Amino acid sequence: MIISHNPYNGDEIARFEELSEEKVKEALEAADRRFSSWKITPFEERSKLMKAAAKELMKNKEEYAKDITLEMGKPIKQSLSEVEKCSWVCEYYAENAKEHLANELIETDAEKSYISYEPMGVVLAVMPWNYPFWQVFRFAAPALMAGNIGVLKHASNVMKTAQNIQKVFERAGFPANCFQSLTIGSKKIEAVIRDKRVKAVTLTGSKPAGSSVASIAGEEIKKSVLELGGSNALVVFEDANIPETVKSCVMARFQNTGQSCIAGKRLLLQESIEQEFMGEFVKQVKELKSGDPMDSETFIGVLAREDLAEDLEDQVKRTIEQGATLVTGGKREKAYFEPTVVSGVKKGMAMFEEETFGPAICVTTFKNPDEAVELVNSSAFGLGVSIYTEDAEFAAKLVPKFDDGAVFVNDMVKSDPRLPFGGTKDSGYGRELSEHGIREFVNRKTVYFN
Ligand code: NDP
Repeated sequence: MIISHNPYNGDEIARFEELSEEKVKEALEAADRRFSSWKITPFEERSKLMKAAAKELMKNKEEYAKDITLEMGKPIKQSLSEVEKCSWVCEYYAENAKEHLANELIETDAEKSYISYEPMGVVLAVMPWNYPFWQVFRFAAPALMAGNIGVLKHASNVMKTAQNIQKVFERAGFPANCFQSLTIGSKKIEAVIRDKRVKAVTLTGSKPAGSSVASIAGEEIKKSVLELGGSNALVVFEDANIPETVKSCVMARFQNTGQSCIAGKRLLLQESIEQEFMGEFVKQVKELKSGDPMDSETFIGVLAREDLAEDLEDQVKRTIEQGATLVTGGKREKAYFEPTVVSGVKKGMAMFEEETFGPAICVTTFKNPDEAVELVNSSAFGLGVSIYTEDAEFAAKLVPKFDDGAVFVNDMVKSDPRLPFGGTKDSGYGRELSEHGIREFVNRKTVYFN
């Protein structure tokens, strides 16, 4: 039995019978059968359905957002924005997929040669609870538009949300089994990846989960995409616009109660502006409104599970034991963790080296740009970095020095359907979104006419 609890008050929300092995096989069989007709469905028809999904998301956003908030504690306003963003990604691929996957002519000795982008079949998505709608839609919209079939293994604490996602596609009128949510725990994933009807897998989540899924996929010679954790740096240079940068850094770290792979987790400040920046930054962190996630005034909710709050508490404690200073916050009450700032953090300390998945930020100072780049790149992760400076030329010169999958100048790292999204190093491989994302799960067929 898989049980959803409200992390804010501990109430049970719903119980779900886990699918038997037999039922999982039936679901995969149905998915595979659907593939034979879906792969030849014209783009125009797929696009009509995807636009209907976009409309459905907007029409019933309150219903979907409420369940997200109840299951994982995200403040309701942020849940609504998440559902709206899913509508955007559906619209985007409904409009652009045909062009992204159009035949690409290449001049060779042949009379005619080109690349034809064709769907692979059933793709498994193993997804996390932190953006329980968005993470799934950014996979599903391109996958379905490419002619693939989606099967979802969602995180065990958001199974109602998983069912709601299937409902969106059903209500939009997609043919049965184009997208199914499998109610299973992670132990049953291996058999699904090994099933011959499943052609590829994508996972968003932690490194251990990614490593396990990719190993199994590797053994089966199946394609995988991994979007894992991050420990993005927010690098503030002395010429930055301080009021704007403070606002951006607060949002980068604390939205979604800090539970985002691309959150700015390490604040790197040039020594000369530390005092000025910290004064305003800490003031704004203290003003963040914690409360009931269902209250539209709340900005900081609870973490999605109590054990996640315990992990964060442990990371903060260890960092302080290692010599850092607690500036504000640090207290936990069940799944709630106070917005927290820890300064004087150095390389080697827990919060600098590990991913912190909640409302706590560590602050480190640097003397010059070379030291800043070295601190950024010393992380095991490589999802993204934000740099704040008024000197665009200087910023452009720094860009190639970073190992990360993204560099944002004077803004927080964010995902946008039009831009590729993904990391390097322990943050994973492959790209989601844009034309790069839709081309991950296609057969790039070489066609040659002589
Ligand atoms: P997990 O990585 O464990 O969960 C993410 C998904 O993977 C869930 O669907 C989960 O299923 C599944 N999963 C877990 N273990 C395995 C496995 N061995 N093989 C296959 N699938 C698996 O994340 P947690 O919820 O435990 O969070 C732990 C940490 O992971 C966070 O603190 C954060 O650091 C990181 N994380 C990063 C995310 C990101 O956006 N990159 C998102 C979520 C977490 P089930 O729920 O049934 O276990």
